[in-house]
Amino acid sequence: GSTDARLNRLIEQRRHLVGPTAMLFYDEPLQLVKGEGVWLYDSAGKRYLDAYNNVPVLGHCHPRVMDAVTAQMSQLNIHTRYLDDALHRYAQQLLSTLPLKQGRLVMTCTGSEANDLALRLARLHTGQQGVIVSAAAYHGNTQAVTDVSPSSLKRGQVPAYVACIDLEPLNTEGIDASAYLDQQVEAAIAQLQRDGYGCAAFLVDSIFSSDGVYADPPGMLKAAAARVQRAGGLLIADEVQPGFGRTGSNLWGFDRHQLSPDIVTFGKPMGNGYPVAALAADETLLAELAEVSGYFNTFGGSSVAVAAAQAVLDTLDEEALQANALSTGNRLKQGLQGLAEHYEPLSHVRGAGLFIGVDIVSSEDPTRPDSVLCSRIVNGLRQRGVLIGAAGRYGNVLKIRPPLCFNHDHAQHLLDALEQVMAQDLIRR
Ligand code: PMP
Repeated sequence: GSTDARLNRLIEQRRHLVGPTAMLFYDEPLQLVKGEGVWLYDSAGKRYLDAYNNVPVLGHCHPRVMDAVTAQMSQLNIHTRYLDDALHRYAQQLLSTLPLKQGRLVMTCTGSEANDLALRLARLHTGQQGVIVSAAAYHGNTQAVTDVSPSSLKRGQVPAYVACIDLEPLNTEGIDASAYLDQQVEAAIAQLQRDGYGCAAFLVDSIFSSDGVYADPPGMLKAAAARVQRAGGLLIADEVQPGFGRTGSNLWGFDRHQLSPDIVTFGKPMGNGYPVAALAADETLLAELAEVSGYFNTFGGSSVAVAAAQAVLDTLDEEALQANALSTGNRLKQGLQGLAEHYEPLSHVRGAGLFIGVDIVSSEDPTRPDSVLCSRIVNGLRQRGVLIGAAGRYGNVLKIRPPLCFNHDHAQHLLDALEQVMAQDLIRR
C-alpha cells in the first residue's frame, strides 16, 4: 500500500544520501518516531517492545536524563579546560567503584575513542604492539580499534599483531572454561612473541557481545587475564557492553570474573543516549602519555555530558535497575530454556542479567549454526512487535539486551511472541 511506497522511498533516499557503509535492521526496516521506557513507536503508530537497545539503559527518553540535560544545556555547556566540580563529583563516584589504586578518569565521546586511547596507553607502557582479542570482537570504529575488531573485518584479515581466541568451544558440554581460555591466551601470547610484536594488551568485553554472548561461569577469565598481566601485558576491560549493572550480579563485567584491569573503558549506556564515554586508568599510565602528548577531547566531558552521566548513575541506583536486571534476566532465561526444550532450533540459552544469547541451530543437524533461520526469527519477532538482534561469528545467535527497566511482564511478552514465531510463523512459510 502507500505505507510500503513511503518506506521504499525512504530506503531509496538513504541509499543515495547515506551510502553503502550504513547498515539497516530488519527485512522491513523501521522508521521510529518516539521512544518511552521499553517501548518504541513507528511512523504508523505501532508499538514495539525494545529488547535490543542497551544505550537507553534506564529506558528511552528517561525524564531524569532529559531534565538534567536540558537544565544544563540552558545554563552552560563548555569543554574540560575549565574547573568543573560536577566532573569531579562524577569522577569520584565512578572511580570509587573501580579497583584502581590511583584511578583517574579521562572523558571521551565514544567507546571507540576510549579504546583507542587505551591501546595507546598500553603500547606506550609496555613498548609492545601485540593485542589479544576474541575471534568476533568489536571494539569500535577508528583505524586502531577496527584492527582489533575482527567482527568488523568482512574478510577476517586482522593484522599480524592481533591474536584471536575462539569462544564457541565454550558451548561444549563439560568444558573447563577457565582452563580453555587460559590455554588460548597462552597460545596467543606465544604467537605474538614469536612474531616479534610482544603482548601489549588483552582487550576484553567480558560479556562477549559480538561473539554471541559467553557469560559463564563467572570467574572463567581470571586465569587467562592473570597470565597476560604476568607476561607484562595490560588488561583492558571494555565495559561498553557489560557495564553499568547489565549483568545483574555486578556493576561491572570484569568484577563478575574477579579481574583486576589496568584500564577500564566505558561508553554506550553511560549517558542513556547522550554521547558520553570514558577511560579509567592509574595515574602512572596517564603520566607516561602526558610525557609525550596531552589528551584533549573537545566534546568529551562537556558540562552537558557530565550532567547526563550523573543522572544515569543516580537513576540506576534509585530505581535499583541492577537488581531488576538480575531478577528479570533470570526469569527471561528460564522462559527461554523452557522454549528451547520444545523447539529444537533454540539451543544453548545463556547470559547474565539482561544480556542473553540463544544459538539458532539447524533442526536436522544441531551442531550446524543456522543464520538464515536466526534472521527469520528476528524478523518474525519484529513483525510481531518485539525488537531483538542477531550476533555471533555466524550471525546465528539471538541477542537479547533490553533497557534495564525491562520487567517480568515485558519478559513474558517477549516469550509469548517468540513462541508464536516458532509455532506459527516459521511453519506457515
Ligand atoms: N566496545 C564495545 C564492546 C562495543 O560494543 C562498542 C560499540 N558497539 C564499542 C566498543 C564502540 O563504541 P562506540 O560506538 O561508542 O564508539
